[in-house]
Amino acid sequence: MFSLKVYNTLTRTKEDFIPQEEGKVKMYVCGPTVYNYIHIGNARPYVVFDTVRRYLEYKGYDVTYIQNFTDVDDKIIKKANEEHSSMEEVSNRFIKEAFTDADGLNVKRATHHPRVTEEMDNIIEMIKTLVENGYAYENDGTVYYNTKQFPEYGKLSKKNLDELIEGASERVDKDDAKKNPTDFVLWKPYKPGEPKWSSPWGEGRPGWHIECSVMAKKYLGDTIDIHAGGEDLIFPHHENEIAQSEAANGKPFSKYWLHNGFIMIDNEKMSKSAGNFFTVREISEQFPYEVIRFFILNGHYRSPLNFSRELMQACQNGLERIKNCNTDLQHYIDNCHDSKLSQAETKLLDELEKYRTQFETAMDDDFNTADAVSAIYELVRFINKNLKENISKEFAEREMELLGKLCGVLGINKEKEKANDEDTAVIEELLAKRTEAKKNKNFAEADAIRDKLTEMGVTIKDTRQGVQWFRG
Ligand code: AMP
Ligand code: ZN
Repeated sequence: MFSLKVYNTLTRTKEDFIPQEEGKVKMYVCGPTVYNYIHIGNARPYVVFDTVRRYLEYKGYDVTYIQNFTDVDDKIIKKANEEHSSMEEVSNRFIKEAFTDADGLNVKRATHHPRVTEEMDNIIEMIKTLVENGYAYENDGTVYYNTKQFPEYGKLSKKNLDELIEGASERVDKDDAKKNPTDFVLWKPYKPGEPKWSSPWGEGRPGWHIECSVMAKKYLGDTIDIHAGGEDLIFPHHENEIAQSEAANGKPFSKYWLHNGFIMIDNEKMSKSAGNFFTVREISEQFPYEVIRFFILNGHYRSPLNFSRELMQACQNGLERIKNCNTDLQHYIDNCHDSKLSQAETKLLDELEKYRTQFETAMDDDFNTADAVSAIYELVRFINKNLKENISKEFAEREMELLGKLCGVLGINKEKEKANDEDTAVIEELLAKRTEAKKNKNFAEADAIRDKLTEMGVTIKDTRQGVQWFRG
């Protein structure tokens, strides 16, 4: 019944996936801080969690997907000062660039892409609630979260107190005003040259962690199904998000926590601060975007993945094989003589189904895209073996349908998706013309348009709510 299993960082086990509400998934993915082009390490959570979403949709779930942009941050302010521009100018520019790369990587747009600067009222509201409930305290314009007040602090990262203290002090300046070393900042006071907002604690700006608690609550509610991001976010970011949300809302924050492993370069984590990174944009000048996506999906999302030119080349060759298979199939479909399945083909259909099962088994096992890619390669081998002059149109179409569906889950058939979108635009335009013709009692034209749509494989139904249409 619950075939899908996901590895939950909160419990460190693979669990059955059961969302709170049947058929619906509420998912939040931490987005980038926008002061530079995204590098291929940042692209990993984009691609991996987009694929998780696509698979959930393939399984019939209705997914609400939220991914934020951090557009207030020290690094953005620094960049703006260096360039003698403003924080807005820098973040707007890199949000635009992030969308260009995400679109290239065929990452579907989130249901909402909230930005911190647009959520300030709710951020202040949640900090106020934390102060009122005794989970936060103010000192000279700074508001801190009191981690001692939240007994479960550390439940996600499973660190002991010493490790927590060490981890916290790595990232925060030594700060004597804190009651406990693990306390973290919710609101910081204004410094000259920085952006500011008014608050009950004076002018200033929010700390990093609070934004995600607030945006998840606003767009998804108090308890969500999946919270995701790179594994470097487990501590302190996600640990702190749990502390904030659960203290403010009095409910569990997220049922499942998913974290991707790192993209490495020469066995070191690729990062902006270490300087050992390649932006998606520069790689896209040597390899098509879809090869970058395919490369990311060639490993299991929780394993480290080494970036190398050789591996990219191998991925390009592999993807080429899949695409050639698709082109060959299309050629046979366009030139088939027999439309109906032969007896031998009827038997082969069972074998064809085995690849769907193999793919689903891999994806049901905590989204094992590496094995899912192997299933696609095996399907391609099967298709190539059975491509003969006398193949029936129906058999070739069944193969094409399966290959397209599985590639669609991995997001590696962008051209087809684009063609489908363009097709949809044409269909909708024809439907609008038909409605207009009917309104003007021009029934001959309305019928002609219906015939044209039928020819295109589109069925339409006139209902009381308006016209409904579907393919096939
Ligand atoms: P940042 O802009 O640094 O906050 O990172 C945005 C997202 O990219 C976060 O989910 C990070 O965990 C993730 N990330 C950063 N570097 C890497 C890497 N080398 N490999 C995989 N994910 C990464
Ligand atoms: Zn976050």
